[in-house]
Amino acid sequence: MDADVIIIGLGAAGSYAAWNLACNGASVLGLEAQTLIHDDGAYSGESRLFRAAYHEGSHYVPLLLAARHAWLELAEESRAPIFQSTGVLSIGSPDDPRLEQVRRSLAQADIPHAALSTAELRSRYPQHEQLTDEIAVLDELGGALRPESAVTEIQRRASAAGAELRGSTPVLSIEETAGSVHVTTAEGTLSAKQVIVSAGIWTPRLLPALSPHLTIKPIALTWFAPENPQDFAPEVFPAFIRDHGNVHIFGVPTLDGSLVKAGYDAKWGDIDAPEQLDRRLSVAERAKISHDIHALIPGLPDAIAKHSVHADLFTFDKTPIIGRLSDRITVGTGYSGHGFKFTPVFGDILADTALGRTPEFDTSPFAPHRFSA
Ligand SMILES: Cc1cc2nc3c(=O)[nH]c(=O)nc-3n(C[C@H](O)[C@H](O)[C@H](O)COP(=O)(O)OP(=O)(O)OC[C@H]3O[C@@H](n4cnc5c(N)ncnc54)[C@H](O)[C@@H]3O)c2cc1C
Repeated sequence: MDADVIIIGLGAAGSYAAWNLACNGASVLGLEAQTLIHDDGAYSGESRLFRAAYHEGSHYVPLLLAARHAWLELAEESRAPIFQSTGVLSIGSPDDPRLEQVRRSLAQADIPHAALSTAELRSRYPQHEQLTDEIAVLDELGGALRPESAVTEIQRRASAAGAELRGSTPVLSIEETAGSVHVTTAEGTLSAKQVIVSAGIWTPRLLPALSPHLTIKPIALTWFAPENPQDFAPEVFPAFIRDHGNVHIFGVPTLDGSLVKAGYDAKWGDIDAPEQLDRRLSVAERAKISHDIHALIPGLPDAIAKHSVHADLFTFDKTPIIGRLSDRITVGTGYSGHGFKFTPVFGDILADTALGRTPEFDTSPFAPHRFSA
């Protein structure tokens, strides 16, 4: 055997699982197709929103609170800029069901927050314009995670705890036998007692049985250079998600003192394979985004300073797939555009599952076999 557990894919959750397993005394081999840190995965792009008030469902709240605790601990111990507390504003019309769900999440766990009327929203956050009947909830536990720093720090800790992490080692196939599981790379075949597949949008290549339940969605990120960056500093401009008519936008204040990240949520059409991802937006697409963002937040200029296009793997119910696929294969995928904030919790669940331990949280909503049921 080359290891107790081989992890395929060292994005955030795969790296976190490696750290957990090594801390629990397992021998761990992490295989990453690219360099250990890179910008082709789902995690890159400067920031990821953390929200505790969750319109995706209040059943996520206990997981979110545990994840936040772990992020803060990691940030404090490492002193890396991993979590910036900015608060997150959810803005929408009063009868928007997502806002109702946000309120439910806040009430369930007694999360510190402020409810703002349209008038209060206008006076506290004048950066947002074209407010008609929109109201807002400020989630005070929300903030911005810094994914590149976080993944680097998690990998550093995994290695220090004894995990072997190999970059530039794409896995070509997985074969399960009675006594072990074999992983083939260009350099040869490796064996382990258990495998964790955490390969992002490339997962269906290794586990084709999951393909019918998954789709790849591109997500574009856009940044703006405001004339007055101090108006968009974290102290005065919380991160936000805003529903205005049919437009769903999100944003993060200036984390580097100059650029503001603001853009649309995923609406770019699905693609069939990772190679089809076009990492540039057309001039027309950029013009439309900047026009729409400028209309709602006029302090951001009507021109995009920087952009990048990434992708995440979505399930049709937008709920992740995490659990045992077979005796020796555990999978974590389909995070559906909202997985990064859960990294510590999902990483722990992957590690516990591979070790045959019962995870701390109910993982039945994530069961890989739910679709066939
Ligand atoms: C633009 C964008 C914005 C987002 N915003 C948010 C947000 O605000 N908040 C939030 O919580 N979530 C957000 N998400 C979602 C979150 O970032 C993703 O759900 C999460 O990062 C997915 O992680 P992953 O480990 O599945 O994939 P990845 O991070 O892509 O990791 C998979 C890794 O596996 C490697 N790999 C693939 N195939 C192989 C192979 N055959 N052999 C070895 N290695 C392999 C890849 O190189 C990669 O490093 C966003 C996603 C995107 C794309």
